[in-house]
Amino acid sequence: MLESLSSKFSKAFNSLRSRGKISEKDVEQTIAEIRTALLEADAALDVVNSFTSAVLEKALELLPTLQAGTNQAQAIFDVVNTELTAILGGGARRVRFAKNPPTVIMLAGLQGAGKTTLAAKLAKFYKDLGETPLLVASDLQRPNAVNQLQVVGQSVGVPVFAPEPGNGIGNPVKVARDGIEFAKNKLHSLVIVDTAGRLGVDQELMKEAISIRDAVSPNEILFVVDAMIGQDAVRTAQAFQDGVGFDGVVLTKLDGDARGGAALSIASMTGKPIMFASTGEKISDFDIFYPERMASRILGLGDVATLAEQAKKAFDGDSAKKLEDKFIAGEDFTLDDFLEQLEAMSKMGSMGKLLGMLPGAGQMKKQIENFDESEITRTKAIVQSMTPLERRDLKVLNGSRRARIATGSGRKVSDVNALVDKFTAAQKMMKQVRNGGAMPGIGMPGMGMPPMGGAPKKVQAPQKKKSKSGNPAKRALEES
Ligand code: GDP
Repeated sequence: MLESLSSKFSKAFNSLRSRGKISEKDVEQTIAEIRTALLEADAALDVVNSFTSAVLEKALELLPTLQAGTNQAQAIFDVVNTELTAILGGGARRVRFAKNPPTVIMLAGLQGAGKTTLAAKLAKFYKDLGETPLLVASDLQRPNAVNQLQVVGQSVGVPVFAPEPGNGIGNPVKVARDGIEFAKNKLHSLVIVDTAGRLGVDQELMKEAISIRDAVSPNEILFVVDAMIGQDAVRTAQAFQDGVGFDGVVLTKLDGDARGGAALSIASMTGKPIMFASTGEKISDFDIFYPERMASRILGLGDVATLAEQAKKAFDGDSAKKLEDKFIAGEDFTLDDFLEQLEAMSKMGSMGKLLGMLPGAGQMKKQIENFDESEITRTKAIVQSMTPLERRDLKVLNGSRRARIATGSGRKVSDVNALVDKFTAAQKMMKQVRNGGAMPGIGMPGMGMPPMGGAPKKVQAPQKKKSKSGNPAKRALEES
């Protein structure tokens, strides 16, 4: 996500950091580099100009006040961070819920922007928060849109109100109105209305969206826009703003090679906050949009906050606790535990995405792109082809068992061997960590673990091997 912009920002700051004492000219040069990077990312010129002039003014005002020896580059970096967060929309806003349910969210945007996919993502997001959403299929234009909504709705366990088949048949305004009535009768707390887009902004599209808006009086109209279309996104947003009006923006396809122009310009240009971000085709590729986290990513600081949240969600309390208890009890970390961890990692999303959230990810772009995602699946297949006994006790893995596992998982015996060797080494390391911590009163800082009791293990001095050589020169060498 926005790696290329991020690596240009990092480059500009690295060269600023390498200066001994920073002059006004250095600041100007860094900001000029940032300006070029933003324009290359296809951010709107007006936004870039107001951003760079604000940064320049604040940085030059700050520079003379910075004492010699203070980290001048860091202070300038902080100014850029603050201004970048501001152009991304400042503090994130949340959906406003109706005093009398149901809350109605209407999705609008061009065809292919990702509305239908987003409808399911939003429904799942709010269902997990305890809401009872209903999806309403008012996109009766795009071929297969109704069916697609039914499929994605089913996949997240959310009912879909779809009385019309679509594909050009049916009245979308009536469907939307009836959908709200249905939701009221069935006591749904939230209604998400999917509407039709067109390939470009046209009057017919606007008329239909306006009629649906007037029929359902939404609490939120979310404008869904493909981040990959750069500045065009801003133009489309402005046309929707003038025609239908909207309350918030959802950026989709931020996972692609989006240059970031839309993300950088849309909040400032429309005056509406970016509320959610979609980062892939999977339902889980979705989150609230946090301007400060996006700024942090662009500046090469990564997005550790999101990473931590995802880890917390994926490693549910129970399995984390179970592992902690096992560790305390001195039990071995088995392949079953390993499998559980792999599954939790898969739940967190692709490794590429996870690595992309680490600080400095912009500079590791190539390695992240080359990361072989299917390796996790292949490793899982090997473990899943083992019997419970084999997973518990690797020592039983003789040649024929290894051959069977290789066949079962579609891998080579050498792959099975490699996994077993790596896992055995990891198990040993875990034991060493545990033994290293086995000192009275020494706990595991930050892991919520109690101090591990027991007397310290006596460290046995390694026995010197007796020399067997009769050759005095060799013996001297051995003894030394
Ligand atoms: P709609 O016409 O606005 O309803 O768009 P769809 O929801 O059908 O999405 C159009 C295409 O974009 C589909 O193939 C989706 O799978 C894909 N898509 C939607 N959101 C994302 C996203 O965040 N990232 C990527 N890579 N693809 C997406």
